[in-house]
Amino acid sequence: MRVGRVFLCLAVLGSSILAISPVQASEACKFVGEAKGPDGKQSACVRVNGNYSWINYPKKKINKLSSYEKTKLKAYQEIRKAISKKPLQNIKLQYSISESISSELKKEFIQKTEIASQLYDQFFTQPEIINVYFQTNKDQNYIRNHPLMGRDASDFDQWFKDWDTGTNRNHLIGLIAKYVEFDGKAQGHTGVLISAGSSKASLGLYAQQVVAHEYFHVIQDRYKYQRDKLGYEISPTGFDRYYPPIFREGSANTIATAVSMRTFEDYLLFYQIFISANTGTWSP
Ligand SMILES: [Zn+2]
Repeated sequence: MRVGRVFLCLAVLGSSILAISPVQASEACKFVGEAKGPDGKQSACVRVNGNYSWINYPKKKINKLSSYEKTKLKAYQEIRKAISKKPLQNIKLQYSISESISSELKKEFIQKTEIASQLYDQFFTQPEIINVYFQTNKDQNYIRNHPLMGRDASDFDQWFKDWDTGTNRNHLIGLIAKYVEFDGKAQGHTGVLISAGSSKASLGLYAQQVVAHEYFHVIQDRYKYQRDKLGYEISPTGFDRYYPPIFREGSANTIATAVSMRTFEDYLLFYQIFISANTGTWSP
C-alpha cells in the first residue's frame, strides 16, 4: 500500500502562517496564509482569480446564505448530527504519545480523536483496537524502528530536517493510517506527526482536520481488509484502480472536516483555502 504518499498530499496543501495583523476581507495580501482578528474572527489569504486576497466568513442568518453555503451547512449539520453521545461500543483507543509534544496540543489531538471516535465507532460491527500515535521530529528513532511506520519513514526526512532547523512548523502531517495485522492481531493504526516546536497557535485551519482524516482511513481500510491481504499490482495505479482517490481522499476530507471544524464559518473558510490551494482560484 502506498499510504505514505497519500499522507504527503495533505502536507503540501498547508501554507506558511504569517504573523500579519488582520485586514479587511477582499483587501490584497502578498502570501497565502491565515490570520485572526482581534474579535477572534479567522481570515485567510487565498488566490482569487490569480490575485491574493483576504477572505473571511462572518456569521450570517440562514436566509442570508448563498445556495452554495446552504448546501455546505446541510452537509456540516448532517455529519455532526451523526456524532453519538453514547459510550463507545466497539472502539478501544490505545495511545502512543511523544513526550516532546506540547501539553496543549496533546490535549487538542486527544479531543479530536475522541470526537471522531463518537462518529466512527458506529462504522464498526465488532470490538476493534485503534492505536493512535502523536509523534514529533524528536521521535525519529521510534518511527524508523517501528514495525509499521519504519518502512515509510524516509517520506518524512524533509520534515524532520525542516523542523530540526525551526522552519515549516505550521504543518501537521499524517504519520500512519492502516488497518493491518500486527502482533498476530488485525488492528487499526492512525496518527500524526508534528514539530516538537509547534504550538496550537502556530497551526493553521488545515491542520485541524488531519487527526480525524487519517483516522477515517482506518475505517476504510477495515472494510477492505480482506482485499488488502491479497496485495495490489506494483504500479503507480494498482492501488488507485481499486480505491480511486476521489473515494478515499474525498470521503476522508468530507467527514473529517465536518467533524473537526468548530464553527460553520471555519468550515466554509477551510473549503475556500482547500479549493484555492488546489485550483488557484476562488469559487464560488
Ligand atoms: Zn488521506
